[in-house]
Amino acid sequence: GKLFDVIIIGAGPIGINCALEAKKKKLSYLVIEKGPLVNSLYNYPANMQFFSTSEKLELDNIPFISKDPKPSKQEALEYYRRIAVSNGLNINLFEKVLSVDQIKNFKVTTDTCSYHAKNIIVSTGFYDLPNKMNVKGEELPKLTHYYNDPHLYAFQNVAVIGASNSAVDAALEIYRKGGHVTMIIRGDSIGDRVKYWVKPDIENRIKEGSIKAYYNSEVKEILEDNIVINHGGKIIKIENDFVVALTGYRPDFSFLKSIGVELVGEKQIPTYDDITMETNVKGLFLAGVICGGLETHKWFIENSRVHASQIMDTIAP
Ligand code: FAD
Repeated sequence: GKLFDVIIIGAGPIGINCALEAKKKKLSYLVIEKGPLVNSLYNYPANMQFFSTSEKLELDNIPFISKDPKPSKQEALEYYRRIAVSNGLNINLFEKVLSVDQIKNFKVTTDTCSYHAKNIIVSTGFYDLPNKMNVKGEELPKLTHYYNDPHLYAFQNVAVIGASNSAVDAALEIYRKGGHVTMIIRGDSIGDRVKYWVKPDIENRIKEGSIKAYYNSEVKEILEDNIVINHGGKIIKIENDFVVALTGYRPDFSFLKSIGVELVGEKQIPTYDDITMETNVKGLFLAGVICGGLETHKWFIENSRVHASQIMDTIAP
């Protein structure tokens, strides 16, 4: 088969940006994406609003026009799709990369076929693997790690696990659509990364009792009609219909390891050069949020869109 200059794994915003840069350098490239275009964004909550203003989410200075300062999910889907369409980007959707082997060049095996490339960019993000609580009942259908639409939860007893941005947004939204929300929070406060314009809202809802919060608490077990928590050493049973577990996500470390990328320390930070973005495997690059290992807050669209040009300047100086 054909030998590509570069194969890009994952068509998130950063994978798309890599494709744009590869095209500019006149390299032969292919993006392989296991889901729809910008799969992670597609699976974000229906009513989410970005925390970045639209110009900070732009790729290649292509204007992102949004009616509010901070765009919605629908606007972002529209923006990234239009970029892919109007630039005729070479993207295979609904094709999952299973393995990458290095013989002379790279061989990429997917669930449908295989390809060869001189260089590989892994831009697979971290949204596929939720951090598990590892408790009994976690597999019950009433639990989700992907919050979507509040309507489902009207008049229901809903436990929201976590205290980060996504947990706080979900708790407030569900409460405002008539759900009875109880937050189960491991620490003793709402997360300090919570958006400064949202924090007073959640703290005041908790203070007035509209949203119930158990701090210093951990889920022990999830049953059909209730959940059991450990609240500072005390075991409490709470009536419950739905569990929205927003406990974060993690990159697919076993995939990285299988290609030979070294992961360092407790945070499992992949080894790469921060100028070239090349990993310890020659010709294999990382781009986007995957670079942070377990530090999933370190990189986002705003600050990782530069990775694409860093990589292409290395591949085709
Ligand atoms: P992703 O967008 O996660 O893309 C990775 C892609 O790789 C996915 O499409 C996935 O399906 C695909 N993939 C994975 N494994 C494989 C495989 N084996 N084979 C083929 N394809 C594969 N960032 C900002 O900068 N500003 C914001 O305001 C902002 N708001 C956010 C709000 C929410 C609610 C959330 C959850 C995130 C927000 N982020 C924001 C973060 C931002 O969405 C991510 O940083 C961004 O999606 C990262 O882009 P990426 O291309 O690195 O990874």
